[in-house]
Amino acid sequence: MKDINWQDYSLETQAIRAGHRRTQEDEHSLPIFATSSYVFGSAEEAWLRFTGQEPGNIYSRFTNPTVNAFQERLALMEKGERCLAFASGMAAIMAVGMGLLKAGDHVVCSRGVFGNTVMMFQNYFSKFGVETDFVDLTDPVAWEAAIKPNTCFLFLETPSNPLTEIADIKLLADIAHRHGCLLIVDNCFCTPALQKPLELGADIVVHSATKYIDGQGRCVGGAVVASEEIIEKHIYPYLRTGGATMSPFNAWVFVSGLETLGIRMKAHCESAQALSLWLEQQPGVAKVHYPGLASHPQHELAKRQQSYFGGIVSFELTGGKEHAWKLIDATQMVSITANLGDVKTTITHPATTTHGRLTPEARLAAGIKDGLVRVSVGLENIEDIKNDLARGLLL
Ligand SMILES: *Cc1c(COP(=O)(O)O)cnc(C)c1O
Repeated sequence: MKDINWQDYSLETQAIRAGHRRTQEDEHSLPIFATSSYVFGSAEEAWLRFTGQEPGNIYSRFTNPTVNAFQERLALMEKGERCLAFASGMAAIMAVGMGLLKAGDHVVCSRGVFGNTVMMFQNYFSKFGVETDFVDLTDPVAWEAAIKPNTCFLFLETPSNPLTEIADIKLLADIAHRHGCLLIVDNCFCTPALQKPLELGADIVVHSATKYIDGQGRCVGGAVVASEEIIEKHIYPYLRTGGATMSPFNAWVFVSGLETLGIRMKAHCESAQALSLWLEQQPGVAKVHYPGLASHPQHELAKRQQSYFGGIVSFELTGGKEHAWKLIDATQMVSITANLGDVKTTITHPATTTHGRLTPEARLAAGIKDGLVRVSVGLENIEDIKNDLARGLLL
């Protein structure tokens, strides 16, 4: 196969062609390498590979050609030097913590991150002497004030779930670096099709590939993208030892997911924009949270930082929890499920599901009201999505 430097190509092309090293069978589509180990030509070759003196596959816990294809492709799309795939998004976040942190370290984390990420820092890393402070995503002064001499990294998601608040990645990267810390961004909601945190100054991007990268709700997976140095020194040794490896089958699904990521994201965003404008006009809707609306507090920042505004919309009903549940139950087509980033539109009531474990006070502090409903806008016809939601709005 021709030796092409994929860095010279655009994201859409990288998404379709990069990462696949064609084998002697001349296959056009990426094969699934269902093998746990690899054969060495000699005892010496085995020694050279094990000691890292010669590149090549050893064992599929840490090297597999199908998984490599996914890693190479996502690294290019995120404009990172190297990517490692993991069994899930949480396994990727766990790897970043295990790789970088030691007892006595400190982390500053956005209050608006994925629930299990909060649990990871609060319930697990804390057991090993790592302390985490949680701050308001959109308040740079609070971020800087929370940094201590032993702070290792800042961790955030933007846009946040479910309120779609936006953090200024560039500003927070500058703050982190001024204090000798790293900035880690969970880029699950935007994907590299909409936002490239590494270009904006972040040091590490983590992903739940389960969401938009798959895009059709089939497989669970995750990834870490960073510089060669960070990956080689901190993340790869942990993957090799910790073993939360992505399976070749899942990598193969994610590779084909990446191929359509750009056009899917654009379509998700167009429908989300249309839906949020429509929702703003509906009776019983007190507020719509979507970065593409002029009413969104960080609308201008979102415009600068992202190429489109994302596929997640949330809205508050004046009738509180009762109306939210009624609206959800009145839908016929959309799926009542907490997953997101699927071609199928999904709907959830955050206060009683994803954020149900928080105390009422903590939930209110996080801005998750009882009347809040979150929609991950799919790729069905937008009029059908509106009509399905309208059934419950008219109650
Ligand atoms: C789902 C999700 C995760 C966790 O990913 P899994 O693949 O489910 O382990 C992490 N961050 C965000 C923003 C998510 O939405």
